[in-house]
Amino acid sequence: MTSSEYVACFYCSEYAKVATDYPQNFASQDKDTFTPRCFLHWKFECHKCGKETHFNGIAWCSDCEVFTCLRCAEEKMVRKEFLIYDYYYNIPCHKCNSPNPALDFAEYYGKHPFQIGDLIPKEDIVIWMPIYKEDLESQEFPHKSWGSERILDIGNAHRHTRLDSSDEYNPESVWDKMAENWISPETEGEYHHTTIILPEVYRLLEAQKDEKILDVACGEGTVARYLAKIGVKVTGIDISKMIERAIGRENEDKLGISYVKMAAEDLSKEFEKESFDKVVCNMALMDIEDYKTTIKKISYVLKKDGTFVFSITHPAFAWPTTTSMRVPPDSQRNEDKRKIALNYFDERPTLIQFGWDTPSLAFTRPVSKYVNELVKNNLEILEMSEPEASKEIVEKYPRQAYLDNDTLPDFLMIKAKKK
Ligand SMILES: [Zn+2]
Ligand SMILES: [Zn+2]
Ligand SMILES: [Zn+2]
Repeated sequence: MTSSEYVACFYCSEYAKVATDYPQNFASQDKDTFTPRCFLHWKFECHKCGKETHFNGIAWCSDCEVFTCLRCAEEKMVRKEFLIYDYYYNIPCHKCNSPNPALDFAEYYGKHPFQIGDLIPKEDIVIWMPIYKEDLESQEFPHKSWGSERILDIGNAHRHTRLDSSDEYNPESVWDKMAENWISPETEGEYHHTTIILPEVYRLLEAQKDEKILDVACGEGTVARYLAKIGVKVTGIDISKMIERAIGRENEDKLGISYVKMAAEDLSKEFEKESFDKVVCNMALMDIEDYKTTIKKISYVLKKDGTFVFSITHPAFAWPTTTSMRVPPDSQRNEDKRKIALNYFDERPTLIQFGWDTPSLAFTRPVSKYVNELVKNNLEILEMSEPEASKEIVEKYPRQAYLDNDTLPDFLMIKAKKK
C-alpha cells in the first residue's frame, strides 16, 4: 500500500453503517493500519498536558476554547446509545471545570468544534451535521462486544452467538445432530484427544483392574472402552444418540461395558448411592447446562474416598471465552495466530459455528463455579491440571501445538476425592 492511494477512514465507514447520511472522508493518518483515520477522527492536542489524544478521549470547552484530555481530568462515563457506541466520556474542562463530552459524542450531538465553527479543520474534510438524530435513535444498536467483533472480523475466527436461554436450542437435539460430525473413524485419532486430553485423564484417573467406574457423558465410548480393556467394570451413560454408536461397538466387540441412555442429572434415579469407585467425565461438563445437579449426583453415586476426574475445555483460554484468529486469515503459520478473550463471566449458552451445518452448544462458566460446586458437594480437589504440549508433541505436531498448546492451555482437568 502506498501513501498516495485513497483509503477510507475507518470511523467514517463504521458510522455510515448506522447513519446513512454520514460523509465518507479519506484517511490521511494511519493509512497502512487496520484503522486508517481522517483528520476529523485523528488526535487532538490537550491544552493542559500537551499530549496528542485520540478524539474519543478528549473534550472541547467552547467557553474557554481549550481541549482537555481524560488524563488531565476525572472523566465520567455516560451511558447513552449513539452511532456505534453505548457510552461516552464527560470530561471536565481543566479551566472552568464544566463537563464536556468527548469528541465522538460531541460530533454526534452537533457540538464538535469543527461543527460549531470554533475551529477550522486544517485538512479538507466533509463535516457531518447530524440533523436526522431522531432516525438515528431507532437504528439497531450494535452489540457491546463491537470492539471484539471488529478485531475478530480481521481474522477468520469461529462465530459465537450468545443465547438468552437454551430454549431455542435443546442440547440433546444439538448433540444428536452433531453426532454425525463427531462420530467418525478419525475422531479417536484427533490430535487434541489423543495427545493432550486422554493421556492426562487416564493419568489422573489411575484406573485399576476390577474397579467400578462410571463414565458420565460417555459419547461413542472411547474412554469406556479403554478402561474396559484394562479390566475395569465400566458403566457408560449419555443422553445423545452418540451412545448408540458406543452400544454398536460393544455389540461388535464385547468388552462387558453396560451403557444407559440417560441424562447425567438423573444419575440417582438409575444408580444406588455410593455405588462407584470412580467417576470420569471427559470433555462434557461444559456441554451440560445443569452442571450443578450433575456434580451433586456424581457425588451421590461415588463411594467415600472415591475419585471424580473431569476434563473440560479451559474456561479461560478456550472457546467460547476465547477465540483464535489469524492475520492474515489464510496464514498457516502459528505466529500469525492470536487468541482473543471475550467475556469470561458471561454464562449464557453459546452457539459456536465451526463451519458445519449444525452449531455446537456450549455452557461456559468461570473456573470458580466448578470448584465451588465440588466443594459444596463434599468433593476435595486432589489435583488440577492444565496440560501443556511437551517438546516432543511440538516436534511431532508443529502445526497444532507450536505457539498454541505450548503457550496457552486449551483444557482443564480436575481430580477430586469424595470425603
Ligand atoms: Zn473519519
Ligand atoms: Zn491532557
Ligand atoms: Zn472551560
